[in-house]
Amino acid sequence: MQYSSQAPEGTPHHHAPEEEWQALVDSATPACRQLVAEVADRHAEALSDRFYAVMMAHPRASAFLAHDVVHERLRASMARWIREIYGDRPSEVATLVAHQRHVGEVHARIQLPIHLVARGARTLKRTLVEHLTAACGDPVLRQEAERYAGLLMDLAQELMSEAYMRNTQRGARTDEAYRLFSLGQNMSVERERERQRSVLLEWGQELLFALHRSPTPGALPRLAHSEFGLWFNHKAAAMFEGAPELDSITEIIERVDDTLLPQLSGHDQQVGHPIPQLIMTLQTELDNLKFQLNTLFERQLEVENGRDTLTRLLNRRFLPSVMSREIKLANERHTQFALLLIDVDHFKRINDEEGHDAGDMVLQQAAMLVLNSVRNGDFVFRYGGEELLVMLVEVTPPVAQRIAQDLCERFAAADFLVGQGRKLHVTVSVGVAVYDGHPDFQHLINRADQAMYEAKQGGRNQVCLAR
Ligand code: GH3
Ligand code: MG
Ligand code: MG
Repeated sequence: MQYSSQAPEGTPHHHAPEEEWQALVDSATPACRQLVAEVADRHAEALSDRFYAVMMAHPRASAFLAHDVVHERLRASMARWIREIYGDRPSEVATLVAHQRHVGEVHARIQLPIHLVARGARTLKRTLVEHLTAACGDPVLRQEAERYAGLLMDLAQELMSEAYMRNTQRGARTDEAYRLFSLGQNMSVERERERQRSVLLEWGQELLFALHRSPTPGALPRLAHSEFGLWFNHKAAAMFEGAPELDSITEIIERVDDTLLPQLSGHDQQVGHPIPQLIMTLQTELDNLKFQLNTLFERQLEVENGRDTLTRLLNRRFLPSVMSREIKLANERHTQFALLLIDVDHFKRINDEEGHDAGDMVLQQAAMLVLNSVRNGDFVFRYGGEELLVMLVEVTPPVAQRIAQDLCERFAAADFLVGQGRKLHVTVSVGVAVYDGHPDFQHLINRADQAMYEAKQGGRNQVCLAR
């Protein structure tokens, strides 16, 4: 038998996981695949129980997996997973690969220590091999089946680990950004802004000096070659990728270098362009440049400060950091917290009938209304376009529901101003979910989302509590 997923000895070659998986399946004989599928199917529940028992024996695992929901789900989904990877149906390999990665992501979200997963996989593999040994009298087939089962498990675990690491690293970066944000620090961007302001000023002074020394054509310092120009052309594009101000600044630099400087250096031959007027024009260009530069940095600071530009609410990328921390706190202190997912009703209509700017104004006022209705310790995120997510810390379910209800009524009673004295009435649908001990924060968000959907179904302008 041959496992052709491996490149020949000595010439390692990188294959896409889908290809590897497929090659592994194709390389096994039908008899082998059938045997493994049968044994896995017969023992799926028992294997799952064994896996769970071994995991739970480890003190660190119980902190993550003690919750009843997880317990019940884990056993069922583990059995499903065993049947999925060992099943003899021609499953879509891409789906299998995607599923392993998803499992790795969930493990990363609940911060399950990765060695516990490896430990569980090792147990599963050993137990499965024991079952195969017992089930098959033919030594050749048995050996093939044992090897096939082991290689599939290894590949699945490798895919999980890869996704686990990717998500853990991303999480760590966001945690760090959130930490800096909470501390109110963003030194590097601030410092860069000050620096670029001053080098721009220096160039202006240098130009004036050069003019004063009665210039010869071509001797004036070009903005593109200045300290500022070099920074702008080489660094700013990467720093502010895609910002509209970049194009405006490029145009200003070109106008200054290609039009104004030649006029300034040849002013004595050019009638109708007296130097004071040219310097006025230059000043206007530079003022505009400074304005654009400021907008550019402001925008960047807002992004890096974690605030949404329109509403000034927390950016949703900090949601994982905040949620993970609150889940930990709730477990340690035996407190509860709740999520309110707030979606503006018929918001598209506001955009269509009043214009996008009016829609923006409504969103800003909605954000203010929510911020003014919650306590200082609560968190308010801009979750989506017109969806806000509130995390109410240390609340009981009835209190969370009352706060949501008050909020809903405040929306219905408020006037939203959209310019020229026009007032709109806006309602919201709110889904409330109270933390139920499930370690994966996505689970709580999904419950809030489902409840919000039910509030919409129920006729909007109302609150629904997640089950
Ligand atoms: P429903 O009651 O079912 O929520 O109806 P809806 O019209 O609010 O439906 P939906 O949530 O699908 O529409 C949201 C719209 O919000 C779609 C999008 O054009 C608009 N939107 C998203 N972000 C912004 C924004 O920043 N400003 C403005 N003005 N509109 C936005
Ligand atoms: Mg919506
Ligand atoms: Mg909506």
